[in-house]
Formats: sequence, C-alpha cells, structure tokens
Amino acid sequence: MNYQDFFAASLDQLRDDGNYRVFAELERKCGDFPHAQAHDGGDTAPVTIWCSNDYLGMGQHPAVLEAMHDALDRCGAGAGGTRNISGTTHDHVQLEAELADLHGKEDALLFTSGYVSNWAALGTLAGKIPGCVVLSDALNHASMIEGIRHSKAERMIWKHNDLNDLESKLASLPLNQPKLIAFESVYSMDGDIAPIKEICDLADKYNAMTYLDEVHAVGLYGPRGGGIAEREGLMDRITVIEGTLGKAFGVVGGYIAASADLSDFVRSFASGFIFTTALPPAVAAGAAASIRHLKSSTAEREDHQSRVTEVRARLDALGIPHTENPSHIIPVMVGDPVKCKYISDLLLQDHGIYIQPINYPTVPKGTERLRITPSPVHSQEDVDRLIGALGNLWSQCELARMPMAAQ
Ligand SMILES: *Cc1c(COP(=O)(O)O)cnc(C)c1O
Repeated sequence: MNYQDFFAASLDQLRDDGNYRVFAELERKCGDFPHAQAHDGGDTAPVTIWCSNDYLGMGQHPAVLEAMHDALDRCGAGAGGTRNISGTTHDHVQLEAELADLHGKEDALLFTSGYVSNWAALGTLAGKIPGCVVLSDALNHASMIEGIRHSKAERMIWKHNDLNDLESKLASLPLNQPKLIAFESVYSMDGDIAPIKEICDLADKYNAMTYLDEVHAVGLYGPRGGGIAEREGLMDRITVIEGTLGKAFGVVGGYIAASADLSDFVRSFASGFIFTTALPPAVAAGAAASIRHLKSSTAEREDHQSRVTEVRARLDALGIPHTENPSHIIPVMVGDPVKCKYISDLLLQDHGIYIQPINYPTVPKGTERLRITPSPVHSQEDVDRLIGALGNLWSQCELARMPMAAQ
C-alpha cells in the first residue's frame, strides 16, 4: 500500500463532500473577547467570535486570571506527575471540593478534559459493573459514545429524548440487571433539553443508574450555575453528573460529581484518570475561582440569556431560519455543507465575523448549520454587525427566509 496516497485520497474525498475541516487561527485578546485577531498565512485581521463555548467570557474574568497568576507564581507551571505519583496538589483537592459542593454530591473527580471524563467514567462504570447495560441517547456526544464502546458493555441506543422508546428498552431488560442511562441536559448542536425528571422517574421504576452530561449547562443554568438539574431541583436524583471546566467556566478540564464510593471507584479503576499527568495547579486554581464566582454572581447568567433573546428576535425580524429551543444555542440552519462553509467564509472575509460552519459528521447530513453562541461580552454594536452581515448574505446567496418575516 502507498500510505501517502491513501491519506491524500481520503482527504480529497472529504474535500469533495464539503466536509474537510479548516481551522480558523485566532489570537485571543485578553480583556477584548469576543474580539480577536485572525491569522491567515502572514495576514492578520480583526474578528468578532460568535461561536465560542467561552459562553460567559469567564476566560478573561479578573477573578480567574488573578487566581491563575497567583497559583503560577506559588506553584510553578506543571503538576509534576500523575494524580497517583506526586501530581495531586492542594489546588486539585480544593477544586474537587468546589465541584462536589456545586452539585450537592459527596465527592467529585477531576480529569484533564470533559472528553476524558466521559470516556474514562463511562468506560469504567459500564465496563466493571458485571452485566451492565448502557442505555444511551442517540445524540450523545462522541466522548460518551467512545467511553461506552470502550467499556465493551452491552449498549442500547434510545431515540433522542424519547421517553417511550427509553421505557420500552428498559422494560425489555430483567429488573435486577444493572443498567446505566447515559444522556445530556443541553444538547449542544440543537440546543434542546432532556426531560431529566421523567428520565429519573424511569430510572427509579426500572432500577437504573443515571449519568448526565451537563457540559453545556454548568455555569449557565441553576441558581449557583450547577446546570439544568440544579435549576429543576433534580441533582440528588442523578447518579453521576459530568461537566467541563473548558466552556462556561472558561478554563480547561472535566469532572464527574457523584457519591463518595462511586467517585472512589472511578478514581481507583479508571486508567484515563490515573495514567496521565494532572492538570497544572494554575488551571485548577483558575477553574475553582470561576466556579466560586458563578456560584454567587447571577449577572453573567442573566446578561447571557438576554443577549440570546435579543439575537433570536433580530434573526426573526429578518426571517433568518433558526431552530427554536429552550437554551442559549442558536442554530441557524443552512442545510448544505458547501453553502454553509461558503457563508462562513464570506462572514469572515467581508465582515470580520467568525462563525464556524458545522457540518457532517458533527451533525447529520442535510442539517448543516451556523451555530451562534451570544455572550454577555458581545456589545450592542457586535449584535448590529452580526445581524447586518447575515441579512446581507442571506440576500446575496439567495437563501430561503421564513415566511411572514418583516424583510
Ligand atoms: C465539549 C463536550 C464535551 C467534552 O468536553 P471538553 O472539556 O471540551 O473535553 C463533552 N460532552 C459534550 C456534550 C460536549 O459538547
């Protein structure tokens, strides 16, 4: 086999399908986010980012930066080891306490990313509990799917957010067979929210554990930023709450929060927890400061929601189609991978607006979209420029508008 030809042909196929990924090279400007510099070869241009998961701008929050500077000066750069061998620092332990408190759980366990936390926790739980069957929502994130696959446990995929389908699958299993229902609260591409209470009711009825990915909700929902389960008073009914420190909390890292024994079990058996260098203490300190801030400050969450409401209303006024949902994610549907990429390119080139096109396999073919994530740090002028640019492009590219729009 000619290996290089194989690589090149595979990439050509991706390009032909319009699914080849091009990364925007950004230089973030602390204090100026969502504004940044885009690098392209030797050129640079100012851009406004409209697709970041730094949903609240916490990546530049003074409390976070101060905690990170302080820890960097106190502790140096790296943790110096795995959690098992000299890498468990005071900052890690404090962060885990902060996370357990956030979710009202006995304990929490920190991982190097949300991806790793899902992969390691699901892989370990489903893999080590004898005869465990995982009931996985059809739209679960790649990290959950990989973790479940890695566990080699039996898996049943239930239709997205479909309680009837979940119940019929649960009912098909013996009551005493171990079961784990794995799902998300806010689904990041459509922005819809799972019926958590009803899923917990089914879990009780059929003797199942629940594993909830709150990655796109922590920091953003609930009185203290504990997520949708906190907002709905359901945290105590979830067996494992998983989250990230890299999105609304603005830093990096992932975690699970659960009972002391479950956390200790994953700590003791998960290879993805043990055999990797711990996060730098400065990262742990920054994340803890971010969580602490958002536990008591609701201003960011309120401004976030009002910015989202405003952008939706302005899109409606122009008839630009976006999927209605009860969250902060605004999917503007294009429905064609080449057009989606083209609009994104024009937004960047002609308007200095960066919205990454979301194409297959991240979303199903035919549902290609621009995923807009407004934040409290987007100004009124940023919103005006976004709406003006989208309106222009919708005309220029002759894209369909919704009926009855005031055009
Ligand atoms: C981003 C994401 C993850 C992974 O979190 P990271 O901290 O970015 O690794 C997990 N689950 C969902 C639903 C995500 O969107």
